[in-house]
Amino acid sequence: MDEQGTAGRLSHGWYVVLTCEAEHEHLEANQEAIGIDLGFLHFATLSDGSTIENPRYYRQAEQRLKHLQQALSRKQRGSTRRRKAVKQVAKAHRKVANQRRDFLHKQSRKLITTYGLLVFEELQPANMSKRPKPKQDENGKYLPNGAAAKGGLNKSMVDAGWGMFQQFCTYKAENAGRHVLFVDPRHTSQVCSGCGTVKKKELSERWHSCQCGTELDRDHNAALNILALGRRVQARA
Ligand SMILES: [Zn+2]
Repeated sequence: MDEQGTAGRLSHGWYVVLTCEAEHEHLEANQEAIGIDLGFLHFATLSDGSTIENPRYYRQAEQRLKHLQQALSRKQRGSTRRRKAVKQVAKAHRKVANQRRDFLHKQSRKLITTYGLLVFEELQPANMSKRPKPKQDENGKYLPNGAAAKGGLNKSMVDAGWGMFQQFCTYKAENAGRHVLFVDPRHTSQVCSGCGTVKKKELSERWHSCQCGTELDRDHNAALNILALGRRVQARA
């Protein structure tokens, strides 16, 4: 897709290419900063306590993809039906990818427009251990611990979304004269954003409660810590 958007005529009809944004717009200076915690329950939790939710169509598209893949696995090799099924799976993949890209563009644009500084955790392989793992009780039954049970299939999609989201934010920020910082992800969910005490929490604990009186959602607490780290980095620069 080019920058301007084009329209033209092909032998079999019209084609229109629209660009989703004017990327090189320099925005007015803005001192507002926000910390962003990327997660599973919510796509993102911001340091102001608000959240960005994964669109519902993700789950629907995933389910469809899963069914198509199962159908494909039952088709005989070399058969016409199999070839058709392969095409369907590829098409469903493309659809999910496009929807995800769309969602990430929209959300990153919103953040860049609103804030002068975005602070993220660095994504690194070690960071992925942040993901809640399914826990089993003595009988081998899975305990409810947030996103764990839902993990499975959508993990790779969610992960890919995080990296792409950071990329989108970064280049949009550059084009708009805004800033994005990445901070060390260690301890951001364990430290109390109110008093700095380390408050060990199980992954299943969704609430941060500290003796200092700080009471808030676990991810909100993390987002506040991420923001504080970002401000510290900014002050040193
Ligand atoms: Zn505290």
